Amino acid sequence: MIDTYDALVLGSGTGGKLVAWHLAEAGRRTAVVERRWIGGACPNIACMPSKNEISSARVAHLVRHAAEFGWTISPGAIDMAVVRQRKRDMVQAQVAAHLQNYKASGAELIMGSGQFVAPKTVEVTLTRMHGGKPWMADFDNPFVQAAGRAIERGFGKVPVFNREGGSIPVVSTFQEELGVPSVLFGVGLPDENAHAPNEKLDLGNFHAGIISAAFLYEEVGKLRL
Ligand SMILES: Cc1cc2nc3c(=O)[nH]c(=O)nc-3n(C[C@H](O)[C@H](O)[C@H](O)COP(=O)(O)OP(=O)(O)OC[C@H]3O[C@@H](n4cnc5c(N)ncnc54)[C@H](O)[C@@H]3O)c2cc1C
Repeated sequence: MIDTYDALVLGSGTGGKLVAWHLAEAGRRTAVVERRWIGGACPNIACMPSKNEISSARVAHLVRHAAEFGWTISPGAIDMAVVRQRKRDMVQAQVAAHLQNYKASGAELIMGSGQFVAPKTVEVTLTRMHGGKPWMADFDNPFVQAAGRAIERGFGKVPVFNREGGSIPVVSTFQEELGVPSVLFGVGLPDENAHAPNEKLDLGNFHAGIISAAFLYEEVGKLRL
């Protein structure tokens, strides 16, 4: 896939992210390619985490020398798990703040490794962050075609096949374990905000979808494979 930007920044470090946010705010179509650290080294592994841990060490030092300052306190012990968690919480908050800045500025963040392959041309190898195994249906699959006929009968209209992403990792597991393709068809419309707090569902589509699901069994039953 080839995409074109007014500005493409390699690395979301201190300089890169600020340039990208400003350019995007100025109306330039801007993307940042970052292979690992959202915000660069400083908030993730360098300046800020190190100062966070140094602060804990400073507190430990003061507690140990409290008597010299006129404080009487019982001897305590430092809990390194808490120290580490405090640092991790700070890093997490920093990453969230950076993501918010990307969103607010309009700069696109692409997680991957970039490499110049020609002047003004960068090839990006995307980093897979998390998620289930990918799966893609084949339109020519007889089960998908059967689903198309079922939808046509349920809705009274010839369906148009298009592609849409989803996140139902068990589908690929079904395919791997059972060795048969799965058929997924949604009856929601793209503006129905699936899974969002303001999700809605058109009742007409819901009812026609139930009828189509019944027809699907009949259509699959007719297949001679
Ligand atoms: C332990 C430690 C403590 C520090 N403390 C301080 C401090 O207190 N104050 C201070 O001012 N400085 C401090 N620094 C220095 C500071 O972290 C760096 O100066 C700063 O992070 C440099 O920013 P940068 O944008 O140049 O690089 P980076 O922050 O390293 O950002 C570069 C980014 O580009 C990404 N990248 C690189 N190549 C590619 C590619 N081909 N494709 C996609 N992404 C790519 C990297 O993953 C990285 O996220 C500290 C450094 C360390 C190690």
